[in-house]
Amino acid sequence: MLNALSQPRRILITTHHKPDADALGSSLGWAHVLQARGHAVTVVVPNDFPGFLDWMPGTTSVLDYEQSQDNALKVLQEADLVCCLDFNDLKRNNELGQKIEQSGKPILMVDHHPYPKDFATYSYHKVEASSTCELILDLCEEWGWMDSVSLDAGTCLYAGLVTDTGSFRFPSCTPNTHRWAAHLLEMGVRHFQVHESIFDQTPVEILRFLGHCFLNRLKVLPEWHTAYIVVPQQDLKDFGVRTGDTEGLVNYALNLKGMRFASVIIDRGVQVKMSFRSKGKVPANLFAIQYFEGGGHLNAAGGQSGDTLEQTEARFLTAMASFAPDHLR
Ligand code: 5GP
Ligand code: MN
Repeated sequence: MLNALSQPRRILITTHHKPDADALGSSLGWAHVLQARGHAVTVVVPNDFPGFLDWMPGTTSVLDYEQSQDNALKVLQEADLVCCLDFNDLKRNNELGQKIEQSGKPILMVDHHPYPKDFATYSYHKVEASSTCELILDLCEEWGWMDSVSLDAGTCLYAGLVTDTGSFRFPSCTPNTHRWAAHLLEMGVRHFQVHESIFDQTPVEILRFLGHCFLNRLKVLPEWHTAYIVVPQQDLKDFGVRTGDTEGLVNYALNLKGMRFASVIIDRGVQVKMSFRSKGKVPANLFAIQYFEGGGHLNAAGGQSGDTLEQTEARFLTAMASFAPDHLR
């Protein structure tokens, strides 16, 4: 792989659909590193990212495949290398993933999700890494590229360290994560600004939406240490909820005393989207894989359903009746 990057290349970097801070942070962080080493880099996202990530250095030149398909395909056509960050199944890259597959271009995958698919030419994959941002830093160190990690790169990468570890609290957060966080602070990354930029941007209607969810949409199954929130599409319209606004919602359900499993079930119109979070050894990803065509990490996973919201909730409860006796007693 290093040989392939020993002279200037044209590189397309992409990540999973609905990019979160680790997806976008690792993509932009890696783009800054490669650019510092003389490569021509374009980040292409499969669809839009939440507005609360638009402060990241480099976002203005990101291409959204859904908005700029022709430009994105031109970048792909001209690319010498495609980097797939924070996902390990081209399906998670939507239509762009199919185009990448058809292009036959060499692929570097950098990812920390379990069960990787075998599509990459080069792969840097560790499930034990807290985040893809951590992996980018590990990779830069292994390759002797730390001098190419600028303050802009470090700022993007810090965002993924913070968010994928739930602000350094999940079991996935390790001494290695903290060492990189310390290193980034020593480089001058303004950690409090990153935190504020991501977490202190709640519009008042979204705070009211959260209040509405806690009051009217939250259900608790105390015998299974499970709490879940069911959101009809009309709520999203009434409160003006947009991409990314619901990202933290599932965590509130898991914050409840005694809870070890939580879900948010949202009617997004085209599909019902589901998020799952768990504590300890409760396998949220197995639940997602087995019952809702999904996947993810042990403690954070997602899935979907083509049924109505009511049918999906009923299926969720049926699934719980099989899953809970084994995992949530
Ligand atoms: P979220 O609940 O934030 O959408 O997703 C939580 C985690 O599960 C993320 O790491 C995400 O990449 C993964 N995930 C979410 N939905 C899916 C899915 O449909 N398939 C797979 N394989 N992973 C998913
Ligand atoms: Mn990630």
